[in-house]
Order: sequence, then structure tokens, then C-alpha cells
Amino acid sequence: YAAKVRSAGVMRFERAQDHYDPERLAMVGELGRAMAQDELVLHFQPKVALDSGEVTGVEALLRWQHPRHGLLFPDRFLPLAEQTGLIDPLTDWVLDRALRQLTALGLPPQARVSVNVSARNLGQQPFADRVLDALGRNGIAAERLVLEITETAAFADLERASAVLRSLDEAGIAISLDDFGQGHTSIGHLSTLHLSELKIDRAFVGDMLTDLAHGAIVRSLVELAHNLGLTVVAEGVEDDDTREALRDLGCDEGQGYGIGRPVPAAQLTEWLSRNRHEPAAR
Ligand code: C2E
Ligand code: MG
Ligand code: MG
Ligand code: MG
Repeated sequence: YAAKVRSAGVMRFERAQDHYDPERLAMVGELGRAMAQDELVLHFQPKVALDSGEVTGVEALLRWQHPRHGLLFPDRFLPLAEQTGLIDPLTDWVLDRALRQLTALGLPPQARVSVNVSARNLGQQPFADRVLDALGRNGIAAERLVLEITETAAFADLERASAVLRSLDEAGIAISLDDFGQGHTSIGHLSTLHLSELKIDRAFVGDMLTDLAHGAIVRSLVELAHNLGLTVVAEGVEDDDTREALRDLGCDEGQGYGIGRPVPAAQLTEWLSRNRHEPAAR
């Protein structure tokens, strides 16, 4: 049973109880306002090549500076955005802001910015055009953008998603599959999503040195990615031992608190200038 509530033309509730939770309902209205009033902010987390220590890019991560609740992380408001259709304007906002900020971050010239995209965004063919518009508007080459598909929801229409991703891939944008191993995406999807990159979920990476099964999964995923011609990134690298083990396994890139935390743009620029000439710990 799916109750449908129409409000402001965009809100579609999929579960009946959402309708009756006044706090959630209030937040939906506020989220629309937050975009207009600049309460949203991007934090940036570096991604490095594990062999050279070179910064290959940054991931843009959304935060909401809420006037009453303080700094909110995406788990507090993204599910709501996905359930109400607000995820489309939200992704547009993140994309535009990330591309607008990119040049000023002080990254190496080839480094890229990764933006998270919900599987829901891919349900619409015009999505590819909106991404290309955002690149054009901000004067950023397609080769500097990575779209990370965050599989919080299964692909409703895999064929359509695949067509949208093909357009993006053909335009030169890299497609990355986020959180692989924990979500809804199966191994079969790896060949239909026009991927360039696979991100191994941090649930496996975090304890890969103490949990033998997780260690084996990480090793196999690195090999699987390479056999498919994909760059492989480990997320959730929290210490140097894990970083070294991943490098020894041939994992291409790493990201995590042990390398650099997600921080506001100004702090990222500082981090970059401090880390510019320091190769990875060996
Ligand atoms: P994700 O894309 O897998 O991003 C990585 C998440 O792990 C981030 O959480 C990051 O802060 C956290 N993280 C990074 N390194 C470490 C580590 O070493 N240890 C641990 N424990 N955590 C680490 P965050 O920022 O709370 O984002 C959570 C999720 O929300 C993201 O997971 C992504 O799926 C989603 N998200 C974030 N920003 C956006 C956005 O702009 N659009 C969409 N659609 N989703 C977003
Ligand atoms: Mg991501
Ligand atoms: Mg991830
Ligand atoms: Mg994750």
C-alpha cells in the first residue's frame, strides 16, 4: 500500500507512515528551502593513488547546516529526498556546486571531482543532458568529472539506467560504482553500467587485516575489477597498515580517514598544500 501525498507538486510519499511523521514532513519542506537559501554545503575528501601517493581527485559529500538541528549528514535527509523526488533538484545542486568550486580547490591539473548520484536520478533520460549542461555552464571538461552511483535503491529500470550511463560515458565522464559488495548491485551489473571504476565498500576494507573473509573479498574484488579493466578504489582506509596492504594487493586508489577526512573547501586546499610533496608512506 503506497499512500500518495501531493504537496508543492514534487512530493510523493511511498510509505504511509511518512505522511504521519510531522518531523519528517517538516524536513521535506525545509530541504527545498535549504537549497535556495544556501544551507547546504559540500565537504571534500581526497582520493590518492596508493603506489605514488598522488592525489587523483576528491569526492564531494553533502552536508546540511540546519538552523535548528546543526550540521546534518546525508543519512539524515537523503532517504527523504529519494522518497519524495527532491533527489533530482538536490543532485543538480550538488553537481553545479562541485563543478563551480573545482577550479579553486587547488587540485593537481588532472585530478577529478566525484559526485554521488542516486540510482533514482538515472530513471530519467534528460539526466545526461543536465550533467552536460552543468559542465558547460561551469567550463569544466567532462574528463574531470566522476559520477559515483550510490545504490541506496535498486535500479528500477536497469535498461534505462544503462542507456543514460552510456551517454555519459560516451561524453567522457567516468562512471564509478560505489559501495560495491554491500548494496543491491550484482556482479552481472558490472558489465552493463558502462563503468570505469569500482569502489570497494568500507565494510570489507575497515577490518580486512583482522577478518580473513573480508581480506579475501577485498583481494578478489581488486582482481575482478582489474579483469574487467576497471580502476579499483578502496573506501574506508583508516590506518597505514591497511593502506600498505591494499597497495601490495595492487588496489589502485584509496580514500579514508587514515588518508584525509572530508573537510570544507578551504581546509581541503590546506591539506593539499601540506601533502603535495609527500609520497605515500612506504
Ligand atoms: P559514500 O559515497 O560511500 O561516501 C563515503 C562515506 O564514508 C562518507 O560519509 C564519508 O564521510 C565516509 N568515510 C570516508 N572515509 C571513511 C573512513 O575511513 N571511515 C569511515 N567510517 N567512514 C568514512 P557521508 O559523507 O556521511 O556520506 C554518506 C553517504 O551519503 C555517501 O556514502 C553517499 O552514499 C551519500 N551521499 C553523500 N553526499 C551525497 C550527494 O551529494 N548525493 C547523493 N546522492 N548521495 C550522497
Ligand atoms: Mg561515494
Ligand atoms: Mg562509497
Ligand atoms: Mg560507503
